Formats: sequence, structure tokens, C-alpha cells
Amino acid sequence: MTARTIRVEPALLRKINERRLLEYLQMNGPASRAMLRRRSGLTAPTVSKAIDSLLERGLLEEVDPEQPALGRPGKLVRMATTSAMIVGVLIDVRRCTVVVAGMDGRIADDHTRRFATPDSYAALLAAIEMECRQVLAESPGTAHGVGVVVNALITTQEHRVASCANLHILDGHTPAHDLESRIDVPCRLLKATAALCLSERAAGAAVGCDDFALLDMTTGLGLGVISGGTLVKGRSGMAGEIGHVVVDPEGSPCGCGNRGCLETLATDAALLRLMSTRIGREIDAEEARRLLAQPDHGFAADVDTVARHVALAASMVVNVFNPARVVIHSDLFAEDEQRLAAIRTWLERLGLAAILADCTLQRSRTSKEQAAVSGIIHELTHAWAPSFRDG
Ligand SMILES: [Zn+2]
Repeated sequence: MTARTIRVEPALLRKINERRLLEYLQMNGPASRAMLRRRSGLTAPTVSKAIDSLLERGLLEEVDPEQPALGRPGKLVRMATTSAMIVGVLIDVRRCTVVVAGMDGRIADDHTRRFATPDSYAALLAAIEMECRQVLAESPGTAHGVGVVVNALITTQEHRVASCANLHILDGHTPAHDLESRIDVPCRLLKATAALCLSERAAGAAVGCDDFALLDMTTGLGLGVISGGTLVKGRSGMAGEIGHVVVDPEGSPCGCGNRGCLETLATDAALLRLMSTRIGREIDAEEARRLLAQPDHGFAADVDTVARHVALAASMVVNVFNPARVVIHSDLFAEDEQRLAAIRTWLERLGLAAILADCTLQRSRTSKEQAAVSGIIHELTHAWAPSFRDG
């Protein structure tokens, strides 16, 4: 039997090395060329060539060290923060947000812009275009890309919103493509749960974790899974729609057209609906927070219903994917330690003990705005130099 060698094209090899160095700088911050040589095991000329190529592309920049070492001071390289910028756009049911960040992912808070979500697609696109133009004009550096985050089913082939159960004005549209043709900066459409997985892995509750699941329980119930270091996408990018598993065919109507989907009972929005029904008038998240902070608030049954259904979703995820961690993203329900503990208690009753013994439940630490930024950085890195794993 003859051994066959795998031939790797020099150009591909160069890209793989560049990707490795980019990922190191993304995870660890500024480093000298000597440090990159030691950490990567690559030769000095290889590191130099790769860094020069990334500098030329504008993905990195050189800076002086804050405390120069003795002897010949070496410059540090880092993800471009002053010479380059990226924009994150979050399209949510009631409110949209536009943020600007450097390639290191740090959001410049003083440039953040928020506006009420318009009621037509044309008005939404016009508003996003106007806000993007404003942040691009205000911020220094070259704009490398815009990440547009939606809580929707999107097709990876066409970058189209196939269906958005909670914001139907997006149905059938290609917001990133439409925005790109207006502002002439590369724009990418990102699914909220997938982008949140990336931001939690970069700087949140799953740093360095190769096997975890994220449940976004804000408006709808979405699932993102990183398994073996790779995001689970499914055949056409629509994996993770656990919120539309029907648990009660006679239940409340869901935005998808079915009745009794898990997300009608396992979200922040579901808790608001249950509490509103109990007191006979509609309340918002702020009022719900105030009511729930009172002792003997009278909503224990509603809290238990939501905790039980989130735990049901988490138990399915744990049993199917065997993650090391389940990260819960919530704007209301899981803010409180006791309510998070209630999900844990139900999960212990519903999930398989052998798998749960090695799995923790945690609150997310990043926002969807940060997710938009992490998502576009990932896309830009991937477009420049794909890794083997992301395929
Ligand atoms: Zn549904």
C-alpha cells in the first residue's frame, strides 16, 4: 500500500497561516511579531509575510507598545481599530439599533443609534440607510462591512429572509443585499442565534468552548449550536427553529401560523402575555420587572410555566447535542437568579441525568448588537481566509 501525500497549494497554505494569526489576535489582543512566531510555531519569514498581507488589506494595524521593552522596541500588531471600522445593525420587533466598532469588536458606545422599527419594509430600509450613513460619516477609518442581524429564518444561499414570525415585513426580503446596493459597503445578513453563538464564544459565556448551545428566549425562541467547534447550520441554513416545535396543538396562535408552539410559552414575550392576561391589561417589560421585584407578586404560576417550557427546550437540546454548556439569552426572565435557578430545577427533572452531569446552564453575557459585530468580523475573516472547520 502506498501512502498518498495531501498536496496543499502554497496560496492556500498562506491563507491558512493568515487565518491562524488573525484568530490568535482576535482572541488574545495585540502581539509582537516575535510573540506570534513563538505562539504559532511558524517561521519568521512566514509570520512577516502573513502580517504584511493582513496589514495591507487593512485588517490589522501596527501600534507602539504601551511600555516599551528594554532594548530595541518592537511594534505590536492588533486587529485594526482606528484605521478600520465595522457596523452592526440589529432589526428587532419594536426597535432597531445601529452600532459601530473596530475590527477588535469593541463597540464605540457614543455612536450607537436607536430608532423605532418602522411598519413597512421600504421605511425600515430607508431608516437603516440613513443611520448607517450617519455613523459612517461620524467615524474615522475605512468601513469593512455591515452585519445585519434578524430573528428570522434565513436562506444561506440567497441571504433572504424566508420567514420572520415576529416581524412579517421582512418576509421574502434581502435586507443586507438591499442595504449594500445603497451604501456601497459589504453587508451580510446574520441570523441572531448564530451571531450570538459567535459573540458568546468570542467574549461571553462560552469563551474557547467548542460544544455549547444557545437559547435566545427574548421575543421568539431560537437555538444556536456550536458542535465540535462548528456552527450547526442545516442544509439551507435554517437549523435551530426549536421555538416552533408544537407542544399544544390547541394552544395560543403563534406568528408562524401554527398553534401552541414552544415559543408561545417559553420566552420573555410569553411571560409578558401571561402576566398581562392575569392582571387584565397590557404591560411592558419595565412594568413587569417592577411587578416581579415585589415580594409575593402573584405571578409564581406564570414564572413556573415559562421556566418549565424553557427547560423543556433545553432538555431537547441537551439530549440531542450533548453540549458542555447551555447559554440562555433573555432580556427579562433570566435576569433574575431565582428564575434562572427555576429553569435549572426543571431541566434536572426533564433532561437525561448522565448528560446533564457534564453540562452547565448559564446566562449570556453579550448583546445582539455585539452579536452583529462578532458576526460581521467572522464573515470578513472567513471571506479573507477560510478555515478548514468552517467549510
Ligand atoms: Zn410557531
